[in-house]
Amino acid sequence: MIKQYKKVMLGLLLLFVFTLQFIEAKNVSLKGKVITIDPGHGGRDSGTRYGNILEKDLNLQISEQLENELVKYGATIYMTRTKDEDLSSPYDKRKKRGDLYRRIRFIEKNKTTLYLSIHINWYNDYYYSGVEILYNNINPKNKKLSESITNEFLKAKIKTREPTTTDLYLYRNTKVPGVLIECGFLSNKNERYLLQTKEYQQEISKIITKGVINYLNT
Ligand SMILES: [Zn+2]
Repeated sequence: MIKQYKKVMLGLLLLFVFTLQFIEAKNVSLKGKVITIDPGHGGRDSGTRYGNILEKDLNLQISEQLENELVKYGATIYMTRTKDEDLSSPYDKRKKRGDLYRRIRFIEKNKTTLYLSIHINWYNDYYYSGVEILYNNINPKNKKLSESITNEFLKAKIKTREPTTTDLYLYRNTKVPGVLIECGFLSNKNERYLLQTKEYQQEISKIITKGVINYLNT
């Protein structure tokens, strides 16, 4: 009789947990939200590097994981690049400027709710580590988004620096809300290892997704 009772209670508990998850998933829908993911660098521009580990490749891998996570909540995703290429044209005199200019145009033409630029950091002191979210004051929403994502990283106990402002061309000229996410330091041994693993790429993608959800729901 007691065994039977335990079984019933366990069943009810499982049902309860399942229902909670279902309610949660329903409440945090990103349906109707358009998110542009901008994997930094590409093509001739590798970004930072350590031996043959190139920032541009890791940026794209993390961006693909991030797309997977955001899609689960019904968001519409655009990527500024899906291949190893930059967005410059053969006619651009200044290739880097042309690349960034087209990224801005791409973000703004798609009626984007917000954009996320994915990068990896480098510092000459290899002890330096941690995630860092940068934003430009062109739009007050940028700061809010950077704080929301930073909070999720801190909750997940991943070392994360205070959000800071950036005046870089892309972020200064994009009117749509968005941030630059430096996912860690390629110069730091531990983070260099983690950033190359699918598990960690997925973990940080889930955290960024939570930060986006919280930002859009408050
Ligand atoms: Zn970069």
